[in-house]
Amino acid sequence: MIRKLKDLDLAGKRVFVRADFNVPIERGRITEMHRVESTLPTLRFVLEKAKKLLIASHLGRPGGKSDPQWSLAPVREALEKLLSSPVALAPDSVGPEVEAMARDPRRRIVLLENLRFHKEEEKNDPGFAQKLAALAEVYVNDAFGAAHRAHASTAGMAQYAREKCAGLLLQKELDYLGRLLGAPERPFVAILGGAKVSDKIGVIKNLMPKLDGLLIGGGMAYTFLKAKGISIGRSLVEETHVGLARELIAQAANAKITLLLPVDHVAAEGRDKNPVAAGESIPDNLMGLDIGPKTRALFIRELRKAKIVLWNGPVGLFEEKNFSVGTIDIARALADSGAVVVVAGGDTVAAVMEAGVAERMAHLSTGGGATLEFLEGKKLPGIEALEVEA
Ligand code: AMP
Repeated sequence: MIRKLKDLDLAGKRVFVRADFNVPIERGRITEMHRVESTLPTLRFVLEKAKKLLIASHLGRPGGKSDPQWSLAPVREALEKLLSSPVALAPDSVGPEVEAMARDPRRRIVLLENLRFHKEEEKNDPGFAQKLAALAEVYVNDAFGAAHRAHASTAGMAQYAREKCAGLLLQKELDYLGRLLGAPERPFVAILGGAKVSDKIGVIKNLMPKLDGLLIGGGMAYTFLKAKGISIGRSLVEETHVGLARELIAQAANAKITLLLPVDHVAAEGRDKNPVAAGESIPDNLMGLDIGPKTRALFIRELRKAKIVLWNGPVGLFEEKNFSVGTIDIARALADSGAVVVVAGGDTVAAVMEAGVAERMAHLSTGGGATLEFLEGKKLPGIEALEVEA
């Protein structure tokens, strides 16, 4: 059993929240706030009840040593604004100065410096985990995006914490993603895209028995089209996965799952070249870079039948305006569909935001690798570490 934040008595206690603030930063400013904003409900909840809030995260890959380039200072600034309260940045994540700050009643909110300044973090070193755990009475894990890593702050320290639980964001991820794997409403439709089939095979295999419909677009669709003997020109393809794509097509047919592939495309001679309309087969000199109008209509018709939808991966090279229509149309159609829509993957979340429909989705998952591994049915170390006896 995993305890919920609401079930714990936080009064008078110091609470350590492991957040995932691994965010893109350019010239000292955070350029993508989704992960930070998603953690605010947990931070606010703790602030209402607890004596002290300690927040920790990793950022980038500083390689186990202190490096100002990877400081969490920009996150401190953002948090202070978002929480409308002073937030102190500790000079480190462990050590006497941090311990003093953790005890200092004048500093109610303390952000620890980048956990990955210590190589012990990624090594899941027990001594480092113990030092982190000793800073507070309660350990709250809200870092879903890092839950697939067995690191000191995401897994190791849980065993030394006096009390532990899932934060509100982690809980929301478990609720929505768990619903897809458990007993999803029917019809359950998955729409998958993005560049590579290889990244999504585990998810397709694990979800297949639960799905009513599987729609495949984006770069990964061309490996499936090739498996069906359709000409794909110079489109992205994973030759080594054509056989597997053929098997998955057969498996879907046997299980009576509606498997839809693109029936037309927006193609071009190159990623920076002008768009050309193409039918199902793509001429030898062109590559498919977006789904065409017939496919958009076909996919949207199927999505409208669904009660619950998983969307992972853009259906075209959406970063280029010429090839973004399919992805943006799908985002809008999903927002209007009335279905419970779970959006997974950084690019897909970015596309939903660009389409201006983020608020109308049931859940935008904050994990990349963690979300895929969860949907593959793998046990995530960060989640397993929170288990307590019922
Ligand atoms: P992934 O990380 O596998 O979800 O892939 C996302 C990336 O795939 C995005 O950068 C998309 O622009 C890209 N993508 C989607 N469709 C295509 C396509 N037809 N050809 C090339 N790249 C694509």
